[in-house]
Amino acid sequence: MRPEYRLDATSTLQEIAARQLELMQQQLAYLQHASPYYRELLGTAGFAARPLHSLDQLSDLPLTDKSQFAARNRDFMAVSATQVVDICQTSGTTGEPVTIWQTENDLQRLTRNEQMAFMAAGLCREDRVLICAALDRCFMAGLAYFLGLRAIGATAIRAGSGQPALVVQLILHQRPNILVGVPSQLLSIARRLQQAGIDPANLGVEKLICIGEPIRNPDLTLSPLGMLLQKSFAARILGTYASTEMATAFADCTAGCGGHLLPELMLVEIIDARGDAVADGESGEVVVTPLGIEGTPLLRYRTGDIARLHREPCLCGRLTPRLGPILGRKAQMLKYRGTTLFPAAIGNVLHAIEAVQGYYLEVEREFDLSDRIRVVVGCTDRSLTAEHLAELIAAKTRVKPEVVLVSAEEIMQKTVSPDRRKPVIFFDYRHSDSKTGRD
Ligand SMILES: [Zn+2]
Repeated sequence: MRPEYRLDATSTLQEIAARQLELMQQQLAYLQHASPYYRELLGTAGFAARPLHSLDQLSDLPLTDKSQFAARNRDFMAVSATQVVDICQTSGTTGEPVTIWQTENDLQRLTRNEQMAFMAAGLCREDRVLICAALDRCFMAGLAYFLGLRAIGATAIRAGSGQPALVVQLILHQRPNILVGVPSQLLSIARRLQQAGIDPANLGVEKLICIGEPIRNPDLTLSPLGMLLQKSFAARILGTYASTEMATAFADCTAGCGGHLLPELMLVEIIDARGDAVADGESGEVVVTPLGIEGTPLLRYRTGDIARLHREPCLCGRLTPRLGPILGRKAQMLKYRGTTLFPAAIGNVLHAIEAVQGYYLEVEREFDLSDRIRVVVGCTDRSLTAEHLAELIAAKTRVKPEVVLVSAEEIMQKTVSPDRRKPVIFFDYRHSDSKTGRD
């Protein structure tokens, strides 16, 4: 099943919809033929007898969530073991890691995905790109970036993750003009450079491709973290959102206003808490159907991430929908005396304060409808008090948490660990036996 791609940046909405319907029909036929899990599920749901005539019928199809994927992991494998050329694992932050088996065609698809994503961000063969994401440990992201850059012909500089001293050394010696990495980690690299008397703005870095954490506000302008990065490196800040399960990216184009869907590689839906499609432009849970995957195909996979789609034509000319910033994880929504918010809203307030060097949140259940929120902030500036920070947060979010000030080192120790792809800044004690962060 070698994929064939027909759409490009000039494709019309009708062409995109027709192609997606065709690919979805192929996907359903493949799932029923090759995936033990979906053969059973679609058979039980009686779907086998009802062909898909329109994408409007998508909502008739069953959803898949992470717990099903984990519990029946092996049944999602749709090829024989000899066809598998690469194995990825999710990091298992919230339970057992889940395996994703990839075939040669899947790696070619992954290459195509990342090549398209990087090209939308304006990358070309002249670029020198520092990849601050792991290529090992069965992670997918670093591998995907490397494959995509190789297809473009750009120079890949594989720094990996979790070694800030090496990243600094590579920036100084290899002079990349593009950095790919987790925004909060890129910010700490900028601070390291500044502490060494080097202004990161003078190093010729032109673009930062930010992964794993949002860098935009809901209105698609740069968030305080995005602005801080832009100022520190004097570089253009672009975002990309993906996960191991989806094996597909939503990447900002050069216009930098939300991650474009790659319509031949994935279908996207936004659903509400009941599982129904939200009204156009509303936020809800991102549900994806990655298309053309052989090894571990998925159908209507619930990501647990909350965001909205922007369907207006983009400045770049593409008509594909753009995904706005991830507002938060569905499971991380905080309730505070009648107000609901995501941890990122508190992060946005803190990122705007120069003296703040990292933070994390601890949440406990206070009453049924209200959480006790504790914000632990790394701060060196003695003129900043916990009460003042709590008031700043309350002014922006209508939620006044308990604030505790500690050293930046204490924040690092609690949030950064080499086996995580990015810092864990959310600790949830609302369910007595759980203590979960986000991978
Ligand atoms: Zn665009």
